[in-house]
Amino acid sequence: MDINKLLRKNIQTLKPYSSARDEYTGEAMVFLDANENPFNQPYNRYPDPLQKVLKEKISVLKNFPPENIFLGNGSDEPIDLLIRAFCEPGIDNIVTISPTYGMYQVAAEISGVELRKVSLTTEYKLDYAAVLSATDVNTKLIFICSPNNPTGNSLEKTAMIELIKKFQGLVIVDEAYIDFAPGKSLLPEIENYPNLVILQTFSKAWGMAGIRLGMAFSSAKIIDVLNKIKYPYNLNILTQQKALELLAKKETVEKWVKLLIAEREKMAGLLKDFPFVIKVYPSDANFLLIKMFDAKGIYDYLVEKGIIVRDRSKVHLCENSLRITIGSSKENGTLLSALKNLI
Ligand code: PMP
Repeated sequence: MDINKLLRKNIQTLKPYSSARDEYTGEAMVFLDANENPFNQPYNRYPDPLQKVLKEKISVLKNFPPENIFLGNGSDEPIDLLIRAFCEPGIDNIVTISPTYGMYQVAAEISGVELRKVSLTTEYKLDYAAVLSATDVNTKLIFICSPNNPTGNSLEKTAMIELIKKFQGLVIVDEAYIDFAPGKSLLPEIENYPNLVILQTFSKAWGMAGIRLGMAFSSAKIIDVLNKIKYPYNLNILTQQKALELLAKKETVEKWVKLLIAEREKMAGLLKDFPFVIKVYPSDANFLLIKMFDAKGIYDYLVEKGIIVRDRSKVHLCENSLRITIGSSKENGTLLSALKNLI
């Protein structure tokens, strides 16, 4: 696959901005090259544009080479950059599954790029043949999400691989919730498929949604494209420092994940017995999708009690369903008590 051919012409020929920190990367006695203020150290300095120290640590964590990693302001940043790099507004299109995470559509619409939705089956399975048949010569990207938001299930690996093998453009697999899933990440498949991009994030298992740190993993050519078009200093110093601090406490994060998975299973077991619950869908993520007789009524009641969940009733294949994030044991207990008062 020739990544260059897939790229928009203006991106192929773009000469990227060259920052002071790109032009001189070594140590020095005095830095007078970036019009920085000498006071208020260390925040007076621009951050490393390619986040080398942080990428080295993430590389060890993921067992994946640093040159195949892009770091962004949340995984929302690479979603937007991929669309802007590969899709010509008004001409190219993107295919995605439905229901899924809403940002693929919003980012496509902002860029003036058509987004085609292909329904999951009623069991929330990926119909890869249907996805393929929605593509045409102008389809540059396919976004899928596994475990999927808001359905919570992982998509079948064999179906995802068929899609990646058969599609001539890029397949982006959003693995934001992968740490809560029993199945493995598709990361090792990147060396087999140069058109595969995997997104992960520090917002979920790592508990750092507030610092905005997302990852894209792919072949070096695609990572180079993302680096070429990103804002020069897309990750600030504070984000990089905080991420390094937490990366040194990997065991803590593993404990959180174990706890949240145990809470998820406990909650799924208890919630299914409420008389107003029709079905608790199996989840590989840190939330549960629950079909109810009167989702809106339950949602409004919970808001009144100060408990906020997400009403997904208007979403395709999620009629009368609430999406409930797994909180701490205490928070989940508060939700259960409120629901018990309804019986
Ligand atoms: N992908 C999925 C599937 C998500 O559900 C979310 C957040 N809800 C994101 C990406 C965004 O993650 P980030 O905070 O890294 O931008």
